Amino acid sequence: MKTSDANLTNALIHLGRDHQSRGRSVNLPIYQASTMLFNNLEEFEQARDTRYEKGTLYYGRYGTPATFELENMMTELEHGVGCVAVSSGLTACVVSLMAFAKAGSHVLVADTVYGPTRAFCDNVLTGYGVEITYFDPMLGADLALLVQANTAAVFFEAPGSGSFEVPDIPAIAHVASAAGAVSILDGTWATPLLCQPLTLGVDVVVHSGSKYISGHSDAMLGLIVAGSQVHYDKVRKMSLSIGDRAGANDVFLALRGLRTLAVRLRQHAQSTVACIAWLEQQPSVDRILHPSHSDCPGHEHWHRDFSGSAGLFSVVFKPGLENKVRHMINNLSLFGIGLSWGGFESLILPVDPSPYRTATTWSATGPTVRFNIGLEDVDSLLSDLDAGFAYLS
Ligand SMILES: *Cc1c(COP(=O)(O)O)cnc(C)c1O
Repeated sequence: MKTSDANLTNALIHLGRDHQSRGRSVNLPIYQASTMLFNNLEEFEQARDTRYEKGTLYYGRYGTPATFELENMMTELEHGVGCVAVSSGLTACVVSLMAFAKAGSHVLVADTVYGPTRAFCDNVLTGYGVEITYFDPMLGADLALLVQANTAAVFFEAPGSGSFEVPDIPAIAHVASAAGAVSILDGTWATPLLCQPLTLGVDVVVHSGSKYISGHSDAMLGLIVAGSQVHYDKVRKMSLSIGDRAGANDVFLALRGLRTLAVRLRQHAQSTVACIAWLEQQPSVDRILHPSHSDCPGHEHWHRDFSGSAGLFSVVFKPGLENKVRHMINNLSLFGIGLSWGGFESLILPVDPSPYRTATTWSATGPTVRFNIGLEDVDSLLSDLDAGFAYLS
């Protein structure tokens, strides 16, 4: 990892814990609140008039001291000016898009974004008169060719969901800013530890806090961090206008999860290197799609812009192995079958990006499987894979 590693590791331990109402406990309490009380009408009116501003305690939906601690912590980690915590990662994508797109505007969306983000664009945004163009995330500076006079936002993801291409983040951010459009990056895979998109020119970064940030598969949360006051104000106002809020327990779990993010990610990365080294020796494997691997499109961008690896990647198997791959998955014992990722446990799931691609073609001819490498003993994971892969021969 790069030199900022020590600072980030320490920041994870010490940020977000200095609120007075913590009392003598190490952690903030779970802040359950709807009504907040004021000493007099003047105090109430003051809060009402500043309710869209960062840190104003007004009503539970606008945030509690714990929400603000989490938001401030994410702001510092991402080098932003403000963060808005919302109820899920998908909500973070939705709120950030709604903050900048309006009827008559045009939004450029990477072909590789998280499926439900794409479904929101197709099923909701277009219905409100927003025009969507999907683009090949590997276009880089050539994305300028797709810009229109009414382009309001560019939404992309690094790396792409399921397929893990790593776009040229600064080049895309530059196209957006030259067009007067807002660039929004879904940075869930990297967390604020492995990449800080705002420092690469991106305007707004979104995260699913349900993944590595909370890290234990027991929270639903989204985080939106803006790099400028103007963008922060728009995002916060949109989230409050929609009436969305991050739940008190989920905020608590994210604050707690962040404390161990660096040490968890280090282990995820180390075990992932071992699993990939094993997987690439297997005759049934055609390609490994992990940004750290030379097979992965955009590997050079990962090398330039990211300081490390996460434990989520895909494997493309040789054609014709569909049924055998199903047997392999069903017969693993340490890899669970289920959605999401970024928790402490290993997961496996077939993925098929082809129905969700319109600007690019998914070229894999064999079945593709996504792996989430968890925190189990790595030799046990390798033995489990070895036993499962017996079904492939
Ligand atoms: C999981 C995920 C989301 C959605 O997050 P939820 O918290 O599950 O709503 C958004 N983007 C990416 C890249 C994801 O992996």
